[in-house]
Amino acid sequence: MSERRWLGTIGLPDVGGELTVAGWVHHRRDHGGLTFLDLRDHTGLLQVVVNPAAAAEAHRVVQRCRLEFVVEVTGTVGRRPAGSENPQLATGSVELAARRVVVLSAAEPSPFAIDDERAVDEAVRLQYRYLDLRRPRMQRNLRARHRFVAGLRRSADALGFVEVETPTLVPSTPEGARDFLVPSRLRPGHVWALPQSPQLYKQLCMVGGLDRYIQIARCWRDEDLRADRQFEFTQLDVEMAFVEEADIFLAVERMIADAWELAFGSRPPTPWPRLSWADAVARFGTDKPDTRFGAELVTVQDAFPATELRLVRSALAAGGTVRAIRVAGGASIPRAELEGPWQELARAHGAGGVAALERRADGWQGPIARSCSEPELQRLGAMTGARPGDLVCLVAGAEPAVGAALGALRTHAARRLGWAPEGRFDFLWVTEFPMFELGPDGGLQPLHHPFTQPHPDDWDHLGTDPTRVRSRAYDIVCNGVEIGSGSLRITRPDQQAAVFRALGLSDEEIEARFGFLLSAFRHGAPPHGGFAAGIDRLVMLGLGETSIREVIAFPKTQTGHDPMTGAPSRATPAQLAEVGLRLVEPPGAARSGAGVPPAGPDGV
Ligand code: ASP
Repeated sequence: MSERRWLGTIGLPDVGGELTVAGWVHHRRDHGGLTFLDLRDHTGLLQVVVNPAAAAEAHRVVQRCRLEFVVEVTGTVGRRPAGSENPQLATGSVELAARRVVVLSAAEPSPFAIDDERAVDEAVRLQYRYLDLRRPRMQRNLRARHRFVAGLRRSADALGFVEVETPTLVPSTPEGARDFLVPSRLRPGHVWALPQSPQLYKQLCMVGGLDRYIQIARCWRDEDLRADRQFEFTQLDVEMAFVEEADIFLAVERMIADAWELAFGSRPPTPWPRLSWADAVARFGTDKPDTRFGAELVTVQDAFPATELRLVRSALAAGGTVRAIRVAGGASIPRAELEGPWQELARAHGAGGVAALERRADGWQGPIARSCSEPELQRLGAMTGARPGDLVCLVAGAEPAVGAALGALRTHAARRLGWAPEGRFDFLWVTEFPMFELGPDGGLQPLHHPFTQPHPDDWDHLGTDPTRVRSRAYDIVCNGVEIGSGSLRITRPDQQAAVFRALGLSDEEIEARFGFLLSAFRHGAPPHGGFAAGIDRLVMLGLGETSIREVIAFPKTQTGHDPMTGAPSRATPAQLAEVGLRLVEPPGAARSGAGVPPAGPDGV
């Protein structure tokens, strides 16, 4: 039997040899009495030529072949006649003269062409995902993803990590999102949760002496979907015992840089800069700073001592602040745009608005420029470093709105003016996050999760002003995107209970929900900490894609369903009865099954 080869690897050295190949019919044409097939597999295309005079039966078979038929061809590799070579193709100097053609599988007409030339509606792509996966873009993306994960595993292994599979039916863990619940048949009225992360299990691995844990962990969070969110996603999940932050940073940087290099061919330089949360927010107006460009926030209220400017006076009188960014080259932006989308953006982040001042060679322009004195404008220019052709965006009011508005305007300006260099990846660690934040209902909630260690200097604030407590939590941010987070953990049962109590849990609740963890901490818990990085997001960034759906084989749509399988589907009465559930129809729920968003906790 002749040797089977990937199509894209066949070339001049094979000329004269006999081969059997297989693939999908990408293209078929009849020309000068011959039939040509372009055969495709994931490595590329190979031209097959069928001559009815030399292979009558094969020729009869190819007449039936339509696009996307799966065929097997046996024949002899020949050099293409002079002038008919195709330099665009790796195999463009050769062709396979078919002796025998077998149809392995017929194919209905495809709803879209299997190439990347035309944009195809995403709903159609997801409905026929198996066809979409054949396209070069998805092949490239999923194979890069595979290499990325392989690189993580290889690197972790070299660093002495142990891969552990933690359960996917778990008690609910508080990562701050909504759980997916699974009713228990054997314990009616009880539910499992799908893990939002393996957090507690990986900590228990540390107590269990596994001391360097990794898992390529599937996690589930029942949240509204966006371009960079799915119900289920994959994390590089890490936990290490007997470590401080620096040890974790070193290991995680190494794993991600190794995997990045294997998947994308370039190695992000390490070590990554570290920036405290407070500095990130002060300098960039966000804890996810894109550090590929400057335009840092400057506090400019000293430019306006005893000013007449109402905007500034009222902000300062109310104890607020006045801050600005320099938008290099921003004078080219039309006023209508600044008064429209830029104002809206500032307001959407809680600021009253933004005053945009244009620096010209002969002075300043803009709605508030006339109300500013000459020395005020000079000081503003000196403090922001604005040069002719630049814009200064000034926001006055209370924090955190002022910083948040300027932070958003900064990234908007970067996109609008193309500041961020293509193909550059600026990774950094943001450290010392606040331990708590106030939730929408005014209650205290952990910014990371309640297992995070408070900063050792801040324990005293726990009982008095918990919002001042810093934590030993950190994030990785790359190009303004949060890639993952982690922390050093609490290991003393009394301290863990104190944090739970600060969050409003009663001693009974603590015992019922976390008794097993506190018990583990009473049995010799080593100091430990860890990290989790979103693999979907990392691969998306590395490939320059803008949606994680482009790097996930079978994602859900943004409305949370799967057009290919029609899931989620309705449960049958028998299934519901078996797990002891009765459905309460949400008001206005459609009667049809497909396309209905999954029932929330109310439906369970
Ligand atoms: N469990 C955390 C998360 O999924 C990460 C960690 O603290 O290790 O975000």
